[in-house]
Amino acid sequence: MLVYAVFGDPVEHSLSPAMQNAAFSAMGLSARYLAFRVRRKRLRDAILGAEAMGFGGLNLTIPLKEEALTVALPDENAAAMGAVNTVAFRDGEGEGGRIFGYNTDGLGALRALEGSGVRVSGRRVLVIGAGGAAKAIARQLALSGAKLSIANRDPQRALDLAAAVGGRGYGLSDLTRLVPEAEVVVNATSVGMRAGDPRLVDGRLFREGQTVFDIVYNRETELLQDAANAGARVLDGVMMLVWQGSLSIEIWTGRKAPVDVMEQAVREELRNR
Ligand code: NAP
Repeated sequence: MLVYAVFGDPVEHSLSPAMQNAAFSAMGLSARYLAFRVRRKRLRDAILGAEAMGFGGLNLTIPLKEEALTVALPDENAAAMGAVNTVAFRDGEGEGGRIFGYNTDGLGALRALEGSGVRVSGRRVLVIGAGGAAKAIARQLALSGAKLSIANRDPQRALDLAAAVGGRGYGLSDLTRLVPEAEVVVNATSVGMRAGDPRLVDGRLFREGQTVFDIVYNRETELLQDAANAGARVLDGVMMLVWQGSLSIEIWTGRKAPVDVMEQAVREELRNR
């Protein structure tokens, strides 16, 4: 049996074990996916240990994605994002020649949008946020031809990200103008993860004909409720989680993973919490 794992700190609330184990069993693979709390300063030891013990592969979550670049050889995409969320072990020379890093967050977000019938090429897309997830998403959407605006609480981070991927950067005070203009709005901040979080966007700014995608997946956010009330098409963060996980499985096994089974496993796990 092959062992796979997610490393993070904290990691006990991760939905990945339920999701990835459901995928492995539907695929008929003899594999088990576990979660391990790994401190940032022990990440190198943990990855080398997993490789030495013949693990099938790893996912990495907060706060380990950036540190992983010091251990794994990143592909062009992960190097450009400055973050690794998927580690694969392959034949190669020496320690550094066997451990490879990938980032499936951006493509996961794109697949989630496409899967619900949203094309981004040539569309005005507003990304709110400039943290790790926003970077991955903004890069992928820009590569896919979106006309990108990025707004962030710290405007300088939005300007820097926009300059790096191609687009325009703003502060949150510009949302009053940017939200109604956008055809697709993506919340890539952590606002909405907790009940009682203040609203990022005045709900009256959303409109029919717009798609609003909130990458938060642990609860139905006020942002999505407001957008749905305004007649916009809404998409929560579950399918991004599912797609980034299925892309990891594809990297490890070369096989497509069953996204419908994975979605069911995540939604069931969320209902039971
Ligand atoms: P991060 O790197 O810490 O970035 C956090 C972002 O949120 C920054 O842009 C930050 O703005 C902004 N922010 C935080 N508190 C805020 C507030 N009170 N008001 C306005 N903006 C605020 O985190 P991350 O890794 O990008 O994750 C962000 C969210 O995405 C989390 O909820 C995470 O669970 C979710 N996520 C979902 C998926 C998925 O598959 N669905 C994948 C990855 C992440 P500043 O720059 O101004 O601090």
